[in-house]
Amino acid sequence: MTEVIEVIEVGGAGKAAREFLGQPLQLLVNGAFVEGRGASIPVINPATGTAIAQCPIGTAQDIDEAVRAARHAFDKGDWKDLRPVARERLLLRLADLIERDADTLAELETLDNGKILPMARHGDLTLALDSLRYMAGWATKIEGTTISPSFAYVPHMRFTSQTLRRPVGVVGQIIPWNFPLVMAIWKIAPALAAGCTVVLKPSEETPLTALYLARLVVEAGFPAGAVNIVTGGAEAGIALVEHPLVDKIAFTGSTQVGQDIQRRAAATMKRLSLELGGKSPVVVLEDCDPDVAAQGAAGAIFFNHGQVCTAGSRLLVHRSLYEPVLKRLAAIADGMVLGDGFDPAAQMGPLISARQRDRVAGFVEGAKAQGARLVAGGFAPDREGFFFRPTIFADVAPTMTLACDEVFGPVLAVMPFDTEEEALALANDTSFGLGASVWTGDFTRAWRFAEGLKAGNVWVNAHNLLDPAVPFGGHRLSGYGRELGHAPLELYTEAKSVTLNLG
Ligand code: NAD
Repeated sequence: MTEVIEVIEVGGAGKAAREFLGQPLQLLVNGAFVEGRGASIPVINPATGTAIAQCPIGTAQDIDEAVRAARHAFDKGDWKDLRPVARERLLLRLADLIERDADTLAELETLDNGKILPMARHGDLTLALDSLRYMAGWATKIEGTTISPSFAYVPHMRFTSQTLRRPVGVVGQIIPWNFPLVMAIWKIAPALAAGCTVVLKPSEETPLTALYLARLVVEAGFPAGAVNIVTGGAEAGIALVEHPLVDKIAFTGSTQVGQDIQRRAAATMKRLSLELGGKSPVVVLEDCDPDVAAQGAAGAIFFNHGQVCTAGSRLLVHRSLYEPVLKRLAAIADGMVLGDGFDPAAQMGPLISARQRDRVAGFVEGAKAQGARLVAGGFAPDREGFFFRPTIFADVAPTMTLACDEVFGPVLAVMPFDTEEEALALANDTSFGLGASVWTGDFTRAWRFAEGLKAGNVWVNAHNLLDPAVPFGGHRLSGYGRELGHAPLELYTEAKSVTLNLG
């Protein structure tokens, strides 16, 4: 049962966000708002450590109802008969409603996730809106092919073949807490454009914007069951993965949970797309301006407090620039102002939870114990909330834990190299394969890195840039499948071959 709680502390949030938080949060199942069957848990503002709402925790039974609603909408309901242009219009209407309420959504994101308000408003909301509108356009552009087959063993007959692209069906979508609204849009928009129906399970750490989105889905007029949103934790996620009426799971989260999903999905042979963790390298070649390199490297690791799957968490610097870049990076890190996301002076907010802060602190202690040289940060400031100072370690050996494991926090491992070959080998010395960047004015060398880096996304003189038109995803322990660009049409449709005997 969800309960109304007194809103204790909602920072600089405006009236609409406060009103939203003052009402019980509910799941969206089959077009209606319902109570979760599980116990609710507090939603914590990570900047203060205080509860701001109660999040309903969906159970396996809630997931079952949502999946059955999505199944019905896909097989028999109003959604099934919608033409592509109608799906496109619904998605565009949803985008208009998000734009109308963008300030409120940004405030809720800052309260729930801790990111600074300008980033939530101009970064997350812009990317979510652009992605939704971009994906809406695909609804009317799904095409198959026409083939002239030979069938040479029946020479007296003529044939024509076509491929049709059909929606996969009911899609279970499970997302993390680092970009809650963006992740929700990246999941539901392409699936709905393709004609699928969805059950979205946001992270239990950050349910607010997804549950606000649920209201806008209803206001936009989506048919009942097309979009279901069930908040909850691992129990709800597992129920979705194991449900026999779900055709596909799209997951973004940790590699460990991705592996668990892959094992469980084998029983029903579900299609999967998995966007998992990373340990992305940033390579600075010797022709770089050290100021530019330090600024670029700081942005690559400290963006969203390091809680980014493509965070540039390993910095490889040519030995001739090693100390100059380190010195500048340490100055940037030491100068960063931490604060509540509503504080205009804040450049970096808190980490998502006390657990995450303690996990980050554990990596820092481990790196010290293994002999890395601390040059900035390395501690949680003595204040309320889950803050951690931006941290830089130099002289990190490739075998140290800090060079191998994803921290998912503002901790950078820096190491020197002497030759291009060594830099490429170091950059690729990882089990992940998500992001990578190379910094140089020499585009011939940049291209060699772009081709040689084992990563799904390579940036030259940039890092963490995302656009709805550019495919995004990884390989190896970073998962598989691509979001954005054309790629989701492959993710959310099945090809069907149809052959006609022309006599
Ligand atoms: P997480 O794996 O702990 O949780 C992700 C989601 O899975 C949550 O909604 C959670 O409730 C759910 N879940 C947990 N256990 C489950 C289970 N056994 N079965 C099904 N669902 C389950 O990840 P997180 O801590 O929320 O997010 C951080 C991780 O996400 C990092 O590893 C990060 O790299 C990754 N991430 C990847 C991308 C990408 O695009 N590659 C983007 C953002 C985050």
